[in-house]
Order: sequence, then C-alpha cells, then structure tokens
Amino acid sequence: MSSDPLLSVAGLRTHIETEDRTVRAVDEVSFDVERGETVCVVGESGSGKSVTCESLTGIVPSPPAEIVGGSITFDGHSLADADQRLLREIRGNRIAHIFQNPQQALDPVYAVGDQITEAIELHSNAENARERAVSLLRKVGIPNAETRVDDYPHEFSGGMAQRVAIAIALAADPDLLIADEPTTAVDVTVQARLIELLRRLTGEGMSLLLVTHDFRVVASMADRVLVMFGGTIVERGSVESVFETPAHPYTQTLFESYDGLSQRADRYARDQIPSDGCRFRLGCPYAVDGCESGEQPPFESVEATAGDHSVSCVHYGDGNPDEILANADRIAATIGNTESDPEGDNGESNNE
Ligand code: SF4
Repeated sequence: MSSDPLLSVAGLRTHIETEDRTVRAVDEVSFDVERGETVCVVGESGSGKSVTCESLTGIVPSPPAEIVGGSITFDGHSLADADQRLLREIRGNRIAHIFQNPQQALDPVYAVGDQITEAIELHSNAENARERAVSLLRKVGIPNAETRVDDYPHEFSGGMAQRVAIAIALAADPDLLIADEPTTAVDVTVQARLIELLRRLTGEGMSLLLVTHDFRVVASMADRVLVMFGGTIVERGSVESVFETPAHPYTQTLFESYDGLSQRADRYARDQIPSDGCRFRLGCPYAVDGCESGEQPPFESVEATAGDHSVSCVHYGDGNPDEILANADRIAATIGNTESDPEGDNGESNNE
C-alpha cells in the first residue's frame, strides 16, 4: 500500500462569481487525509467548508463556482483538472458523499432497494445485488431490512433516510466518505446514533472527511481537525492538540461561542471579511498593524503542543503568542468541563 496520503489538497482556490464581485469561497486551502483517518472540518456557515468538499470531486456547481488554482491528488489521480469521465469514475467508486439532507441523495419515485442495487450495479457486478442491498441496509442499522428494502424514501424518518443515504454511499465500498453535516437535520439522539454508525465504518478502514458544527462529534471521532474561516484554514492539528490548545484567535471565539449543544448564530457574513491581510482581523481581539495588509499570514507551529499543530497568525513564529496561549489554556479548561462524548447505540433502533 502506498504511504502517500489518500487525499492531498494543496493551495486549492475556488471562486464564485456573483453579480457584483468574485467571492474567494476557497482560498489557498491545503490539507491531507491519510488512509483510515478521520479529518473533521469546523467553522461557521460561509467559511468554505462545503465548497471545499464539493470542489474535491467536481460537484461544486459550475458556473458560478470555478476551481481557479491548486491541486487535488487522490490516490495518485489529479482531480482538480480531471475530465468528467475520471471524476465520475472516482465519484461514487472511490469517494462517496453524504449531505445534510438525505433526501438530496434519494429519488422519491424508486424504492430504496432499487436505488442501492443501482449503485451496486454501477460500481461492481450485479450478482446478488438485492441481497447485497439488504445486507447494506442491515449494516447501517435499518431494522427489518428484508422488508424495508422495498419501501420508498418518504416511508423513512430523517435519521433512517440518512442511514439509507449512507448505504447508497457504501455500495461501492469507497475509500473516502465525505460527509457534509450529515447529522444537522436530525435530533440529538438520532445524531448520536448516526455518529456511532460513522465511527463504526471508519473502524473498518474507510477514511472520513467530516464537516460538522458539533464539537462533541469532533472530540469523539476526529484524528485531525481543520478550522476554517473566510474560505481558508486558520488552524490545523491533531484533535488532542487543538482541544488542549485552541491556538488561533478565531478557534477560540468558536469554542467560546459553543454552548455544548449547538453553536450560536453565525456571526461573520462573507462581505464583512476583508480581502487583504488576515481574514479574521475585524473580529480579532489581538489584531495589530501587521494584520492589515498582505496575504493571510503563513502557518506557524504552535510551540506549546507536540506534533503537527499550526496556525495562520502573526503572533506565532517570531512574534509573541503568550497572551493568546494563556486564553487557550482557560478555554481548554472550560471545554474539559463541558465536553461530552455522544453515546451511541448499536444502530438498531427504529425510533428515528
Ligand atoms: S493575524 Fe492578526 S488578526 Fe489574524 S488572528 Fe492573528 S492577531 Fe488576529
């Protein structure tokens, strides 16, 4: 097996043309996903999380969006400039997506079993496709899968429909699942069950790129965390290091605004984010003159923590981050007191 990352994104830039301006929705985004790794992407709405995910397999709506720079390498395949034939082959076969609204992936006029068998037949031989569909429904925790395979999407609750969407995503046995806020539309109990399901699937070796607002989910299943603001990554590191030392001023405001169950309303509209200097400078309590011009600051290591933990902030590197790190300690202590691990079940409940 190759030791290269399964997915490597470098300097990705995706722009969206609006009537009056060009929005840099994804700007110089770089990260890797290793084989079997779970990488969580956090940040407020409009921070570029979804556009980043959709850019990876070419499903970002184009126009108005367009990848204008950077590279996306998936298991040796270059995807940023790939033709539609290769993207279709990779999409579904090797990389699968699930979305916030499972109905986005389900066709209301076909029984779910037909939709799963279609996915199986598209990506492998059709032999025993129905039995395999039933087996996939069982795997994702649909009770009475033998009979429910003939039901239609509207006959499933939100949580169960998301399980069906996951079954379709798994039909091709993908190497990477990209899940964009898959639990946002369901209640807390169902969220916990779905997260437990995803955790079980990653335990079988699948890589997961998970967009979520929920820090409990991040804490319970991420290997690494990417924090996005204004279309770019501002902090990245192992889940332990980011939770022990939330080192970027934006990460700190994100953590502080989290009340343990949900994040408060998103506070930064895209048109309030400056196009030069640090993207976060208008909301940053540590901003200095050097934050106002040039590009987003380069990534610098967070000395206080071990491993690959870095932030895009002028106070690190040759600067003095002591005040920010002192605040990080205070926030980490608060998180430690309120953080809870979502308890899941074995995925067999029918009450979703
Ligand atoms: S670079 Fe400046 S504005 Fe940006 S996070 Fe650091 S201190 Fe704040």
